[in-house]
Formats: sequence, structure tokens, C-alpha cells
Amino acid sequence: MSFTVEVKEELAHVMPSRPCCRRAELLALWWYGRRQGSWLVENAAIARKVVRLSRGALGEPPRVEMVRAGRHYRFLVAPPVGLPAPGEADGAPRNGCCRRSFLRGVFLASGWVADPGRGHHLELALPSREAAEEVLTLLRSEELPARMARRQDTYLVYLKDGEQVSRFLIMAGAHGSVMRFENVRALKEVKNLVNRLVNAETANLGKVVDASWRQVEDVRVILAAGLWERLPRALQEVALARLRHPEVSLRELGEILQPPVGKSGVNHRLRRLHRWAERARAGGCEEPGQQELTEVYGNDTRCCKGLKED
Ligand SMILES: [Zn+2]
Repeated sequence: MSFTVEVKEELAHVMPSRPCCRRAELLALWWYGRRQGSWLVENAAIARKVVRLSRGALGEPPRVEMVRAGRHYRFLVAPPVGLPAPGEADGAPRNGCCRRSFLRGVFLASGWVADPGRGHHLELALPSREAAEEVLTLLRSEELPARMARRQDTYLVYLKDGEQVSRFLIMAGAHGSVMRFENVRALKEVKNLVNRLVNAETANLGKVVDASWRQVEDVRVILAAGLWERLPRALQEVALARLRHPEVSLRELGEILQPPVGKSGVNHRLRRLHRWAERARAGGCEEPGQQELTEVYGNDTRCCKGLKED
């Protein structure tokens, strides 16, 4: 399943609670889901959503028919009675709650997002310059500085930055998909950073401080063992911060974290990270429990000495 389909499946199940927002989302689906005059919906989940939204917003659900379009099935929706066509209305809703529902509808109708492993790109394909400018304004109100481009008869409004794509998904309510997006994004960044630091290390041994270097090495081992995604979030965060800032002290590292963590907290996390790495080196795949650790190391924490600042 492509990431776009995954996001749409998830958004198809997000139901706005207010009637104003339901109407706004339905409006976007209707305005931008039309192709050559008929309203074709890509998949069953979105078609069901159109019916549910209509029931809430208009009372009467539209007639939906399954049709064959090439190798796929599409859902042909009869034009809703009681909704303005584009140009007949004052335009897209501007207030916060409806704006987000409207944008969700635009994405469901005409959106596409790249698979997280293949770059960061989200776009909305709109039928006219006016529509594109309207959507651009709505996105900017959400502090998403989108851009516009023309492709034949279509106007594309797009986001090209990972952070912004992520914020769009959160704004639209795709919380499950955003987690996957963020995991892949972080994994990619971690891999890049580790490679960069490993190369920097071979080029100039003296530059990276010893303890920091061991931590980078721990992350490298964890990555190589395919354990990154199983690391607790707190450990992922401290690892990422260390890779981004190999030169800073533990105290400074703690200040970089969100929310900030004291020096001993950072030390604790890095030691846990080291235990994951040790386990990976031993061919295991989980963080060892405390009891097991005591068996291996006794009460002596010499194995973690390199993680201390002195
Ligand atoms: Zn609303």
C-alpha cells in the first residue's frame, strides 16, 4: 500500500464533530474531487465518508455507484443537493476548525504524499489558479508555507520539507501515519549522521571526543542490528541529539533535548543506550533487564565508563 493510500485510509476515518466542519470537508471533497464533470471517489473508505458527511451536513446522503476505471474500481457520487459549486460560494471557510477540515477534504480529494523513505513531498492538485491560491492562503494560515506550480491544466500546491509534511499530517489528523513518517525520517537522518561522523572520525581522530565517539559507535551498532525502531523514544531522542552535536558536554546535550533533561538523566539514557548496543553486539535484540545486567556486570558500571564526562 502506498503511503498516500495509507494516509487517505486513516483520514477517511477522521470524523469532525462539529456540523460546520463536516460541511467544510464535504465541500472540499466535492469541489476538488470532480474529474471531467463527475465526482469520482478513489476508494470505498472515502466514499463511505462522503455518505456520512452528507448525512450530517445535508440530511440526505447522495447516491453512490461503483464503476470500473481501467484496472481499478472507483465510486461515482451523485452531485449533492444543497452544496454550492465552486464560484457560487464565498470561498473556502476561514475559521480554524473548518479550515483544517476543509484542508483534510482537499487532501482526500486530490492529495498525494511521497513514501517517507523517498524524500519529503506532499502536493494537492487543484483545477484552477484561484483554487490553488485559496488553498495556499489556508495553508499559510496554518503556518505551512506551501508553494505553487503549474503542470498542464493542474495547479499544484506543494510542501517539500519533512517538518512541514509532518505538520500537515498532524493538522489533518493522520496521527498514525505521521508516526510512521517520523520514524522513517528519523531513521534516515540517523543513518546519514552516523555515516558522516564515521567518515569524520577516520579523517580526523582527534576531533570527536572519546566518550561521544563511543556513543556514536553504540548508535551505529544498534542501527546495524536493525534495532533503531525498537528503541524507546527517549533513547532515540538522546541518540539523535548526540549525533547532531557530537562535540557538546552531557549537560549541554540535556539542554538540547525537548523537554530539557539534567546531566544525570542524560547519563542514564546514554547508559541504557549502551546496554542496547551491548545486547546488539551479543546478538540479542532487546534491552537487557536490570537483573540480567547485574548478573553480567555486577554492581560495577565500568562498562559504561566511557559514557561519563570525565
Ligand atoms: Zn468548523
